Amino acid sequence: MIDVSVESVETIGLSATLEDRFGYAQEWVDSRSAVLVRIEADDGTVGWGECWGPVAGTREIVEEVLAPTILGENPLHVERLYDHLYDAGRATYQTVVPLPAISGLDIALWDLKGKLMDQPVSVLLGGREREEIRAYATGHYFRDTADLGVQYSEIADEAAANADRLGALKLKTGLSLLGYGPTEDVELVRRVRERVGDDVTMMVDANYAYTRREAREVGRRLDGLGVHWFEEPVAPEDIDGYASLRADLEVPIAGGECHTPTDFTRLFDVHGLDIAQPDVCIVGGLTPGRRIVTRAEEHGIDVVPHAWGTPVGLAASLHLIATVDREPWLEYDRSPNPIRDALTGPGITPDDGTVSIPSAPGLGVDVDLDAVADYRIDGGDER
Ligand SMILES: [Mg+2]
Repeated sequence: MIDVSVESVETIGLSATLEDRFGYAQEWVDSRSAVLVRIEADDGTVGWGECWGPVAGTREIVEEVLAPTILGENPLHVERLYDHLYDAGRATYQTVVPLPAISGLDIALWDLKGKLMDQPVSVLLGGREREEIRAYATGHYFRDTADLGVQYSEIADEAAANADRLGALKLKTGLSLLGYGPTEDVELVRRVRERVGDDVTMMVDANYAYTRREAREVGRRLDGLGVHWFEEPVAPEDIDGYASLRADLEVPIAGGECHTPTDFTRLFDVHGLDIAQPDVCIVGGLTPGRRIVTRAEEHGIDVVPHAWGTPVGLAASLHLIATVDREPWLEYDRSPNPIRDALTGPGITPDDGTVSIPSAPGLGVDVDLDAVADYRIDGGDER
């Protein structure tokens, strides 16, 4: 066995203010953030991971609570180390473990293991089912205007451009943020469908804007508009609501970006999902991500990982996607994110609607910290 150990863990907090805020059902977004995790082994090998933003709290949990658990340990044992990190988080907080913090460490350990073993992470996760993956465009967020006509037409313009480029896209509903309701939500979807035509694959994401009753009504109308899936119809905590909607509606039910590994088990047990959407930067990393894929496939449930971060998180998501049995999609985020754009370089972009899965050892991404120097949030030391 390769005799190496974790020598240091460093976090890089990043935040970028947006020129124009955009909205979804729950809030206005006026900045983008991420915590990158850099783990260095005693032989000089470096692994990168990403935690879902924000920086506040996550950085301290990684550095002060979780990092001591893996210092001096051999990164080849990443799955066991994930279990130790989970236990350490629970023992410290006596409640839900801070999963985004664990995610960055777990992903960085997988990157390190891949580089040490000279293999892509996807090979070590169980094997590559594919070398490329179809992508759908995420975006179409609400504009900062009370004018509903402008809202509809600008979102339809954006959707038409994404339809031309990728042929598949996801809309947001939840105009309750602007004082409207389910009627205007369905009208938005209808107008976009009319604009892009029936051949475009179109998903709808409510970000839990609805009560069960509203979700049932909206879901029936989405089915009539040829919607490919209905994402997060109700609150993540309402596991029974997922099961009830899935039983009542024809449109497939998707969800998972707000769910923990144990939530997925409950959702699978009550038949609450058609499509499971774990995010490797939120759910605890690639270790629980792969375990969720295994359980989903045992239940005949599709997996389409949620992704909304930098190229580090996107690469990790691609390696998980490589291992999924039934063909998933890559969630390709087109919403404004200066951090993602600065780090992307020539890396992960769609070509004819598909994205190549990295094949270099580890995650197969390079991180150029100089490119994001302007977005760094200084920590307690010299950074
Ligand atoms: Mg979503």
